[in-house]
Amino acid sequence: MRTPVVAVCVALSLCFAASASAATTQGGEPHTVKPEGGALDLISSSFGQRSRELEIVYRSAEPITPQLLAEVNGGQICTIFEQASLAARAVCVTRADGKWRIVSRGARVEGSVSQPRESELRLRFEPAEAKLKVGLADVYVKATAAGCSAQQAKAAKVTWSGAKIISAAVLALPCEHRLPRVGNYQARVWDVAVTGCRRSGAGQVSRGPSGKRVALTYDDGPSTYTPAFLRELRRLGVPATFFVIGQQVSANAALVRSILRSGSMVANHSWSHPDMGAGGAAASTQLREANAAVRRATGFTPCLFRPPYGSTGADLVSRANAQGMTSVLWSVDPLDWRTPGTGSIVSTVLRQASGGAIILSHDGGGPRSQTLAAMPQIVRTLKGRGYKFVTLTDLLGYPERIKLVK
Ligand code: ZN
Repeated sequence: MRTPVVAVCVALSLCFAASASAATTQGGEPHTVKPEGGALDLISSSFGQRSRELEIVYRSAEPITPQLLAEVNGGQICTIFEQASLAARAVCVTRADGKWRIVSRGARVEGSVSQPRESELRLRFEPAEAKLKVGLADVYVKATAAGCSAQQAKAAKVTWSGAKIISAAVLALPCEHRLPRVGNYQARVWDVAVTGCRRSGAGQVSRGPSGKRVALTYDDGPSTYTPAFLRELRRLGVPATFFVIGQQVSANAALVRSILRSGSMVANHSWSHPDMGAGGAAASTQLREANAAVRRATGFTPCLFRPPYGSTGADLVSRANAQGMTSVLWSVDPLDWRTPGTGSIVSTVLRQASGGAIILSHDGGGPRSQTLAAMPQIVRTLKGRGYKFVTLTDLLGYPERIKLVK
């Protein structure tokens, strides 16, 4: 039942109605096998997607001790992934230097290993870390106890080598085990779509928490300058946050999508850039229509709003909050819209920037080549002072909302 329901949901783009937990967790039901005796005798394995991470769970009838998986003695439990057009790839857990370790093709895989009970190991890692791709995979598991001798393993193979099985009766304590004994299980690596972000804390902010992090923000786009801003950000290896004007989004939908895809953040700068400081129902309409335009273009709903001209008030802030957005001002303002010269933009930003800074600039609404030209020196100098550039949602600690898609 599960698969058809998901397929229909994706086809009709109606997934938003699904509960968040259902949308970010898939699979993970255990596949069980009968114990066959011997060391590291697994009785089940499971493969599920938990948010951005794959989760693999191994269970044994006996404790899975660090000694059994000692890397130095060849101990490991591997899941072998076979995906169309990719060479088979083993992702293995071992024990080395007093720590569990996930390894693939001799390289460490960033991730976590936990042992909720002695007889269970739980691995989590992002599929791309192990060079797995989105889509279906045939998988099987191979568990090898540390110190497993070639002779033992050879004998053991008779029990599980598929069609070649002749007799499973004879064997003494195999130290290699395959799950399933014959054939494969199916697993799926899901793609992750970011659908929004969740605000919390103060209704309006002008800086983030102190610490060695700062956020670049660009207002009044998307514009003809925006692609060059994205190229420069990519070259410098930093993200930014773009406060877009709603009525400019539909004509630049692909560009707005590429902002998100590049790791930068898209935020709301109203539908048509009026002075909204007095609040009122018209302000709510401005907010709603801008978010709707971004959502139509990208599937993503912003959780940050910057009031045009920085004109703000209690009513406007509460209206933004009611639509799931924090009102964001700034702590650094180089007045780049006055085109004061690249040098002036750079020196003002470098003078005013400190931990948690929110740096205001513009990628639309006028000639922006000075702002663009100022970016490399700002980024390199502040990096040199130990600052890390992050999106505003990262700076404020807002989690993203995601859904899994095929
Ligand atoms: Zn503006």
